[in-house]
Amino acid sequence: MPDPVTLSFEFFPPKSETALEAMLSCAQELKSLAPSFVTVTFGAGGSTKSGTMETALRLQKEVGLTVGAHLSYFGHTKDELFAYADQLWDADIRHLVALRGDIPEGQSASDYREPQYFEYTSEFVEALLEHHPFDISVGAYPEKHPDAPSLDADIIALKKKCDAKSARAITQFFFDPSVFKDFVAQTANYGITTPIVPGLLPIRDFTKICGFAEKCQAKIPDHIRNLFEASTDPVETGIELLSSQIIDLLHADVKHFHFYTLNQSDMILEACRRSGIRT
Ligand SMILES: Cc1cc2nc3c(=O)[nH]c(=O)nc-3n(C[C@H](O)[C@H](O)[C@H](O)COP(=O)(O)OP(=O)(O)OC[C@H]3O[C@@H](n4cnc5c(N)ncnc54)[C@H](O)[C@@H]3O)c2cc1C
Repeated sequence: MPDPVTLSFEFFPPKSETALEAMLSCAQELKSLAPSFVTVTFGAGGSTKSGTMETALRLQKEVGLTVGAHLSYFGHTKDELFAYADQLWDADIRHLVALRGDIPEGQSASDYREPQYFEYTSEFVEALLEHHPFDISVGAYPEKHPDAPSLDADIIALKKKCDAKSARAITQFFFDPSVFKDFVAQTANYGITTPIVPGLLPIRDFTKICGFAEKCQAKIPDHIRNLFEASTDPVETGIELLSSQIIDLLHADVKHFHFYTLNQSDMILEACRRSGIRT
């Protein structure tokens, strides 16, 4: 029998109790797809460390999910990060997504080139693993990280993160599955054997997603732009597109899918059903 496909879902810390309740009910619905774990972002969109911890604990205790926390080191001392990692470990959180984080405008990496700070994500992963045996995911960028001079340089950086014993690399979202497939082939050329997990972003509000894509430098192919511009039912168009991306990636032997939920469940539930990865 073929290995079953495994899933993970990313949430962000909601800004109000009402939004948190709504997110927990989406998480409850997504639990029906039996994810291996879910993750909660850190510092993205102005959220705080305490927001990540609170959201992670509520997902763990109230929904009963295996929860991971994102943790980015930029601007934080090693001592602060270890103390926070201890809190996560003590709360039975065993999964981490270890990141540098974006460099805020007006700052640069050289502002923190002191021994009390981490310089590279690979060092951060190694240090976290020496501290506690977490299951650590790192980020990967099929269309190159915006700061990297070239895709090759970025893949060399990814290899260092993988060699630091990350369990997997989860990609930035992309829209054309061939971008992911080409990237995986290139990482193999550099000797990367760590699983590369596609990060899929459902498109509900095309204009909003265009804004995200521009910031991350993820290309939106013309045929997808045309689909949404002609659509009278963008949610249905988004579900069809997501289902087709999943099916394409299944044919490429993808075994684990990570979804950027944006704290919503309906499109993912339906796309997983239509693509046959869950009934
Ligand atoms: C799955 C996923 C989840 C995310 N979650 C969050 C979140 O919760 N909160 C948030 O704020 N952001 C999040 N981000 C965004 C991320 O923080 C930014 O993209 C950030 O700018 C890069 O972090 P990183 O650890 O992925 O990059 P890194 O791997 O550290 O790379 C950043 C840059 O440094 C270069 N580099 C890395 N290592 C080396 C090296 N050894 N030598 C030379 N160059 C090197 C890379 O090529 C790249 O240009 C997420 C991204 C992904 C893919």
